[in-house]
Amino acid sequence: MADNSKTLGEGAAVETQPAAASFQQAIVSNPPSAIAAREAHPRPDNPPSALIQADGLTKIYESGSSRVVVFQDLQVEIAAGEMVAVVGPSGAGKSTLLHLLGGLDRASRGTVKVAEFDISKLSDVDLARFRNREIGFIFQFHHLLPEFSAVENIMMPLLINRSSSRAARERALSLLEAVGLRDRATHRPGELSGGEQARVALARALVARPRLLLADEPTGDLDSKTSESIHSLLKEVHRSQRLTSIIVTHNERLATICDRVLHLEDGQLRNG
Ligand code: ADP
Repeated sequence: MADNSKTLGEGAAVETQPAAASFQQAIVSNPPSAIAAREAHPRPDNPPSALIQADGLTKIYESGSSRVVVFQDLQVEIAAGEMVAVVGPSGAGKSTLLHLLGGLDRASRGTVKVAEFDISKLSDVDLARFRNREIGFIFQFHHLLPEFSAVENIMMPLLINRSSSRAARERALSLLEAVGLRDRATHRPGELSGGEQARVALARALVARPRLLLADEPTGDLDSKTSESIHSLLKEVHRSQRLTSIIVTHNERLATICDRVLHLEDGQLRNG
């Protein structure tokens, strides 16, 4: 695959072309054994229509005498294969909602079902296992581990899931290739541009073949041109990896390329 970024000096880099068009091609034309292992977990051709179903979802933060009611009794239904944007003013509870749907945090009340899992009922250990296997997270500032290289960052979820180091490395390198960064494998996050870090974060989110991709302001810190290339890549991997994706964003262009937009404001969630 061609290199998608050109270094301009002083560490600045510009993405010349999104890697999106070649993502599927890279995976298909270069299937290492770890990729082939995907067949062990085939996606059903006709998955159940609602992958996520949340009812009576309530989050209240309480500490001492302070009490923040973020939202109460929300109902959320997201179909398998949908790409949904969540928009709304700062502080409306978008990140909180994302964290509840992905099992990063627990609701004060209500239920969250993701595929066959009622995650409101899972123990902490099972919830961690559920997150590792079913969900890929992308955070606004990427949250890459600074002391590890790009390929090591991507390998990490597989190593936590007890994959062999060799299989994890093969899978991570194939994803680096797919996001157009094969030649940056040994670079640490501090040696990568913001756009390159976003690509590494996306590769890491996909490494365990999640069903659900959750992203919190994935291009919030990027310039518009770099953001566009990441948006295209997100859309492409959503399709090619047959994901269900929920993306919290302030970026109108990113919201536009999603199938549906949910507005969260004043504790109310409405379709936009
Ligand atoms: P958004 O993502 O829409 O900007 P958040 O979900 O981050 O909103 O936050 C929603 C509300 O919950 C905000 O008022 C925020 O201050 C509050 N909040 C978030 N996390 C905590 C916490 N750990 N303790 C108390 N309040 C919190």
